[in-house]
Amino acid sequence: MDVSASEGRLSSGAKAFIARRHKLLIDGHWVDARSGRTFAVFDPSNGQQIAEVAEGGAEDVNRAVGAARRAFEGGPWAKMKPVERGKMVWRLGDILEAHADELAELESLDNGKPVRDARTVDLPFGCELLRYMGGWSTKICGQQIPISAPGEWHAYSIREPVGVVGQIIPWNFPLLMAVWKIAPALAAGCTIVLKPAEQTPLTAIRLGELIVEAGFPPGVVNIITGDGTAGAALAAHPDVDKVAFTGSTEVGKLIVQAAAGNLKKVSLELGGKSPAIVFPDADLSVAIPGTASGIFFNMGQCCTAGSRLFVHERVFDKVMTGLAGEAARLKIGPGLDPETRIGPLVSDEQLRRVTGYLESGRQQGAEVVTGGKRHGNSGYFVEPTIITRTTPEMKIVREEIFGPVVCAIRYNDNDLDRIAREGNNTEYGLAASIWTRDLGIAHKLARKLKAGSVWINVHNFNDVALPFGGYKQSGWGREMGYEAIELYTETKAVAALL
Ligand code: NAP
Ligand code: MG
Repeated sequence: MDVSASEGRLSSGAKAFIARRHKLLIDGHWVDARSGRTFAVFDPSNGQQIAEVAEGGAEDVNRAVGAARRAFEGGPWAKMKPVERGKMVWRLGDILEAHADELAELESLDNGKPVRDARTVDLPFGCELLRYMGGWSTKICGQQIPISAPGEWHAYSIREPVGVVGQIIPWNFPLLMAVWKIAPALAAGCTIVLKPAEQTPLTAIRLGELIVEAGFPPGVVNIITGDGTAGAALAAHPDVDKVAFTGSTEVGKLIVQAAAGNLKKVSLELGGKSPAIVFPDADLSVAIPGTASGIFFNMGQCCTAGSRLFVHERVFDKVMTGLAGEAARLKIGPGLDPETRIGPLVSDEQLRRVTGYLESGRQQGAEVVTGGKRHGNSGYFVEPTIITRTTPEMKIVREEIFGPVVCAIRYNDNDLDRIAREGNNTEYGLAASIWTRDLGIAHKLARKLKAGSVWINVHNFNDVALPFGGYKQSGWGREMGYEAIELYTETKAVAALL
């Protein structure tokens, strides 16, 4: 397989991986799809094909769920002591770290993101997350519960793994999203069928190879590459106990409907239209680069991107000038170039979607401060873009663009309730950031914002221990921290009359 114009930048490990045949991981074996079908994977920096991957369908999902069920009900995984399970999850973190350079290259090649970001953000976070979740294996406890009914009782609760889980993930952080999903599920003792996004299947496949290397028994983690058909089959499967989904709100609603058949448990991490609110007293030397990174990091393809920037009129012009300067400094280029700060969007479809929003903004009368169009004519690059003179009804203000595009909105209010109402004026509720030196104001406003994460003087801040998830149409449930373990366990109450 030709590795496109990017080949020269790949290490030998990454090249060797690309050259392999890419199959499905079912029951510890790499197998072709039953249909024999494959799909092409593209380098978004130039649109060239880089690999072909097995296209799993409903039959393959069925086989994978069967393997996961057998691994859950019997065999070494079901009998493994928590400390052994924890060590295995930790070990996977170590193995990932040992392959971090190669994985960062593959991620950059497949997704387009700057290899520097993959190496300094996605990979370290993934390794740390595996170790953090591995640590929980030995600490998943029930309680002894006092009973008020007449008689003498011994009652307690047990937290048990929920069972076979289907995990469906998007393309914006392909490897990190995979780890984000599997780490707590494995720590809790579940077995998994993972469905990566069709745009970016490569690092999940490489992760599957490393999972086998780490010694996980067959069937504990199964990986089905394919499109939404495979995802839909997994969400609807009657022998899946829980489905965990990260992706668009639109598909999230389909997941909920599909899950209704057997009422499997559902957790959802969905879209966002997160506000970043800059107060006039903010330290602009922090707020300007912070809000710039809040929208431009990962080319804006972050569910938590600070895409609605509210700036007080006293500092509005200064912030616009500073932000435009930040945008101008970001070097646009192929992700594998270590100097690149803005890579291509993930796909032609996303390029069309984002430029479509830019066009709609223009038509509805918004003004472009900087950027506003495609960069170059090969690859899927879009300039970092700042838009002003918007109205709350415009599509670009209401809908998730998922690109490097921020709507800057001037405000002149000092009433926190009104500011919060504007910030909350969205169907989403994933994140928000507040930029001020007045921590009293910051904490008061934090309580008023309807968002799963509120950040003060920082944006896009995640930590393995911080619960993460959405209010409103941004999702159900919280990942990270102990709450992620709770997502993958059921509580059983045992009561004995003595
Ligand atoms: P998407 O279109 O919703 O796809 C997400 C995953 O669902 C992909 O693996 C996709 O498969 C699969 N899928 C598609 N149709 C399906 C169906 N009917 N049933 C089951 N699975 C189906 O989202 P995306 O465009 O890849 O990702 C961008 C979105 O993800 C944004 O809205 C973003 O906000 C959200 N996101 C949220 C978070 C969070 O934590 N809240 C994090 C990252 C991203 P194929 O792609 O292979 O068709
Ligand atoms: Mg790709």
